[in-house]
Amino acid sequence: MVPSPSAGLPLELVTVGTELLLGHTIDTNSAFIGRTLAALGVRVVRRTSVGDDPDAIRDAVDAALARTALVLTTGGLGPTRDDITKHVLAELLNMPLEFDDAVWQHLLARYARLQRAPAASNRTQAMVPAGAIVLPNHWGTAPGLWLEGPRGVVIMLPGVPHEMTRLVEHEVAPRLAARAGAHVIRSRVVRTSEIPESTLAERVEHLEAELAPLTLAYLPDVSGVDLRLTAWGLPAADADRMLDRGVLRLRDAASAWAWGLDGQELADVVLALARDAGETIALAESCTGGLVGGRLTDVAGSSDVFVGGVVAYRNDAKHQLLGVPPALIAEHGAVSAQVAEAMARGVAVRFGASRGVAITGIAGPSGGTAEKPVGTVWFGFAHGERVESAKVVYGGTRAEIRSRAVTGALFGLWRRLRGDPKPPGATTA
Ligand code: AMP
Ligand code: MG
Repeated sequence: MVPSPSAGLPLELVTVGTELLLGHTIDTNSAFIGRTLAALGVRVVRRTSVGDDPDAIRDAVDAALARTALVLTTGGLGPTRDDITKHVLAELLNMPLEFDDAVWQHLLARYARLQRAPAASNRTQAMVPAGAIVLPNHWGTAPGLWLEGPRGVVIMLPGVPHEMTRLVEHEVAPRLAARAGAHVIRSRVVRTSEIPESTLAERVEHLEAELAPLTLAYLPDVSGVDLRLTAWGLPAADADRMLDRGVLRLRDAASAWAWGLDGQELADVVLALARDAGETIALAESCTGGLVGGRLTDVAGSSDVFVGGVVAYRNDAKHQLLGVPPALIAEHGAVSAQVAEAMARGVAVRFGASRGVAITGIAGPSGGTAEKPVGTVWFGFAHGERVESAKVVYGGTRAEIRSRAVTGALFGLWRRLRGDPKPPGATTA
């Protein structure tokens, strides 16, 4: 791993809420803020989560201010007794709370629109530290607050994610961008599947010196490995130029597996390729139970390519809905090349699609044998008169095996739509 260069305006993040510590709420605010501020050239250098406890909040912000003089908090701005961030930090920064009539009128107007009456406790939301800048919240009741004093800047935002994200976008980002200057932290991503992280590293690591000062990170998950290329603290135009060139170099080096960039999904890419080729797709799913169809139909407008699918889970359904001969299942088993091919052909014919894809496997935890262990998945790919099959043995839990089989099916389809041979040494569909 290359260490993250120390570019950008350093900021510390403190997320407040006992629910975060108990694990009832995942701290998605931190992820959003890290991503969004990086794009502005503001580097989150540390994040701390604390409960709804005055001492913990005070200590966390006090220590953070001493390090960076720039701190952003989320949470604890609501009207209830456990919402104490504002009270604690007003005291820490020596900015006593005052009633702010403009904030109160804004709140009353919001309640009038919603045809509700404010509770007595809502008045505390109009209490503002003396000298604070109020960041108006049009999406909820607690405004954000920007406090600037001799020790630095403290920005307080509500914890509710959809309010926090909008306040960041409309109020915080422009102010921080002005402080960070014209330098940005920006990333591009090359998305790969069906290649292990270590094999991918062998193919691309020789590029790292050439890509410098951009840094390269490998981000594996169950559907593949993302290669994230990051420019740290460069002028925006330089960052974009270097990143554009860098992602092309990476994509070329991993071309047999690199199906997309940035926010693209494998289903998007498959549908676009099929559309351009005038192809249509039908699915016969057994062990994936409709998950592949789910992924294709996640994409709006997929109906011009995706005709439909069948979840043929039990043998009788494979026979009745797809025309797989019972004798074929009896002879080879439901998880076999022969059955996968018959399913793919059957579904293509029945749906009148140019391509049929079938998935039949053993997701476990039971049902495995020495010859066909748990994780064995056969894929069938029919294209007109041609039909092929491929076997992959996936590892992991039932959920992981199914998820990997979804990627396997989409990847197999992607490769065939491109007319690519099987990547060298790969165990892919
Ligand atoms: P608060 O501003 O403390 O009243 O937060 C209100 C709600 O926002 C909480 O009940 C959580 O569901 C949610 N929330 C608070 N902090 C976070 C966080 N860091 N990430 C995601 N959700 C959060
Ligand atoms: Mg809270």
